[in-house]
Amino acid sequence: MSETTSAALKLQQFKCPSCGQNITQLTPFKASVECPYCHQVSLNPLIVNKSMRLPERVIPFTVTQDDFGEQIIEALVDEKNLPLDLFNQITFDSLIKAYLPMYEYSGNFEATWSCDERYAVEKQRMRNNQVETYKEYKYRPAHGDAYGNFSILCLAYSGEDVPQELQDFASAIDNPGASSYEYDPSLMGLDEDQQLITLEMNLDPRKIWSTFGRQYVEQKAAEECGRQAPSDRKNLRTSAKIDLTADGVYTMVPFWFVYFFYNQERWHFITEGSGSCQYLSAPQSNAIKFTRWGIAALFLILAAAALFLMSDIITAAVFAGCAWLGTKVYDFINKKKRIAAACRAFPESNFAKSHS
Ligand SMILES: [Zn+2]
Repeated sequence: MSETTSAALKLQQFKCPSCGQNITQLTPFKASVECPYCHQVSLNPLIVNKSMRLPERVIPFTVTQDDFGEQIIEALVDEKNLPLDLFNQITFDSLIKAYLPMYEYSGNFEATWSCDERYAVEKQRMRNNQVETYKEYKYRPAHGDAYGNFSILCLAYSGEDVPQELQDFASAIDNPGASSYEYDPSLMGLDEDQQLITLEMNLDPRKIWSTFGRQYVEQKAAEECGRQAPSDRKNLRTSAKIDLTADGVYTMVPFWFVYFFYNQERWHFITEGSGSCQYLSAPQSNAIKFTRWGIAALFLILAAAALFLMSDIITAAVFAGCAWLGTKVYDFINKKKRIAAACRAFPESNFAKSHS
């Protein structure tokens, strides 16, 4: 935190070159400053002198407010257990549009895995005076290596100015590298946008890496191991050696966030502002889950009855197929209902226009 403290001291010493008054309201996010006393515009000394840690990279917003609205509708319509009356009742809190300070970490990992792989041995036995072939399953040890690269972004801020849900989401995400530019405050569009929140980093890069980054990369390495290891297995163990090549590149990352309400409960939707990732927390209807489960269970009981009471494999297979198809049809009908409800609730949206 020493950098921030010394920068704060330097801030107090910045005098307007025109009238000599102290200017204290400085941020590293504007290329120039206007003196509040004489209105002289001068170059921002933070940028010129690099007297505090400036962002090194910035990801500009490409998702507009309208895009964000459309994304919420799409995400809700895709939520298969969404209560069907949600669109009649939903209300939104005010939108939050923010640049969050994040650190980029990139590098590669070397992981090793081991597990017990299941395999079948064909055996023969006598049954009703006939030779019958059957399979016996056994386990054998298997192991291997997995390699990969990573580039992630971890939130470098903790505080009261953004919702906790947004802080949790941004604690570690994949870096949309292609959308990232060398830092230039003019890319952030701060001059024309009054509602935009821009926060400075207040956490230490090493601490962030050990709290969130390492764990996120270890999980990626474990997933890669899971893809490589035999699918029919038990006791998968993995370990990863992580090599950091870029250690905490200070990057400004754009986010949209909104709370919404349904039945007096609060939920939320988040989109990274270049569109690389999003997250919806939404209410889940137990009635819908139970009905889907009931449809499947009904047909599976009929399939079991056909198999065990009548030894009719064909009919059993047909009922089992109906269990699968029934849930698909049920989900399809519900999606049609959600689409219709969304079109009624948001008649002016592109979503409604494209579904009418
Ligand atoms: Zn002045």
